[in-house]
Amino acid sequence: MLEKRLKSIEPFTSNIEKNSRFCIGCGEPATKLVKYSTEGAIIIEKYCEKCAKAIEDSSVNQ
Ligand SMILES: [Zn+2]
Repeated sequence: MLEKRLKSIEPFTSNIEKNSRFCIGCGEPATKLVKYSTEGAIIIEKYCEKCAKAIEDSSVNQ
């Protein structure tokens, strides 16, 4: 498995994105794009406010 490191957390930029995606952590409507960098690629995952915050907090503690 590739190592992935948190790169940034950004809000969705359009209503279309908000309405068509769900948090992969809990299934709530997603509002944040969480970007990870891996070797040679960027991975984007979608999370709600709460899950994005938890990811942000845990990455600070590493
Ligand atoms: Zn969530």
